[in-house]
Amino acid sequence: MKHQQSETLFARAGKVIPGGVNSPVRAFGSVGMTPVFAERGEGAYLMDADTNIYIDYINSWGPLILGHASPVYTKGIETAMMRGNTYGLPTGIEVDMAETIVDAVDSIEKVRMVNSGTEATMSAIRLARGFTGREKIIKFEGCYHGHADGLLVKSGSGTLTFGVPTSAGVTEGTAKDTLVATYNDLDSVKALFKSNPDEIACVIVEPVAGNMGVVPPKKGFMEGLREITENNGALLIFDEVITGFRVAYGGAQSLMGIKPDLTCLGKIIGGGMPVGAFGGRADIMDYLAPDGPVYQAGTLSGNPVAMKMGLNTLNYLKDHPEVYTNIENLAKRLEKGLKANIKKTGVKATVNRYAGMTTLFFTEGPVTDFGSVMTSDTDLYSRYFAKMLDDGNLMPPSQFEGIFISAAHTADDIDKTIACNLAALTMLQEEKND
Ligand SMILES: *Cc1c(COP(=O)(O)O)cnc(C)c1O
Repeated sequence: MKHQQSETLFARAGKVIPGGVNSPVRAFGSVGMTPVFAERGEGAYLMDADTNIYIDYINSWGPLILGHASPVYTKGIETAMMRGNTYGLPTGIEVDMAETIVDAVDSIEKVRMVNSGTEATMSAIRLARGFTGREKIIKFEGCYHGHADGLLVKSGSGTLTFGVPTSAGVTEGTAKDTLVATYNDLDSVKALFKSNPDEIACVIVEPVAGNMGVVPPKKGFMEGLREITENNGALLIFDEVITGFRVAYGGAQSLMGIKPDLTCLGKIIGGGMPVGAFGGRADIMDYLAPDGPVYQAGTLSGNPVAMKMGLNTLNYLKDHPEVYTNIENLAKRLEKGLKANIKKTGVKATVNRYAGMTTLFFTEGPVTDFGSVMTSDTDLYSRYFAKMLDDGNLMPPSQFEGIFISAAHTADDIDKTIACNLAALTMLQEEKND
């Protein structure tokens, strides 16, 4: 497979864009390669700048639940643009969007639109602090909530101490207000509440962790978080930027029967446009400006063209609940195939799946938290990724990401991928035996 055009573009990009990309994971650095540049997409398939065609399991990292270039996303979009693509005044379609989200997600009574998942989590946390009058927050190691300063923090060495920044440029002052707990470990959360009484504004969590690879919550973990936060006067924030409208129309919270105080959304709700949202209890949301003391704003927030594409997607999903069963069935098919291949080849690997979200980890497992995620053999993953790519499968270019299946994928696509997976695992096992 040739990547000449992609390499040429990447060389040009490197001169004018830091690292050649506008978001780090696109650089393919963690699999030791240079990126494939996308040229076009159609349904489950992506064509790169060298006209190679792949079954795409990245799907723009989650937004494209209907696959690439679905006419559903863009229905009526030209008309919307011709009318004027931004006003800086409220528009009716923003009200439609808010009503649709409030209708879909049980815990959301009021919602504010923003332009990315990062903005959603950043604003939700400011709101939680403003509402509770407390400064500290709890996040979980391995959970990603966008790149706002206070959220780019993990614990020192898996110990339950004050956070240290994960990124240069995040001040210690900011990092010290972010406490880090262990995913699937309620005791780690209880200990933080005990040592910081009446200081914790909120716990923010991915109800299904998707940014350290897919790590589902253990039974009782989310229920426990709900109880602990309630008992301690802190808010529970579900970051459903991935899971919202993906694992179910009502988000992960609808499957779990949990009502968080605030919910962050993004990815799918924009139908491929840069859109985020945060919403929840009306009494909390009313703390936002202009009615309340917590400031939050956006020149292009609720942009009518973006709202049109997002609403098109949500309306379609509402009318086609079979999308969710179909995607879950395909994910189950993939899981079954991958597990059979692992058994057949003897490669040390394990598969995590929650609804339509899946990760193949190159470790024996079980993978339940950041610590066990980190036992994965990323070298093995890199070789796996390269072989899969060569055979026409675009897997996520990092061990620590989920596989996204869209409504455009077919059982035939999955079966092809399973066959390629067998070839790849066989290759890895033979290399090991040499
Ligand atoms: C992608 C993601 C974000 C950040 O969203 P952006 O639109 O990339 O800013 C936040 N939280 C979770 C769980 C995500 O997966």
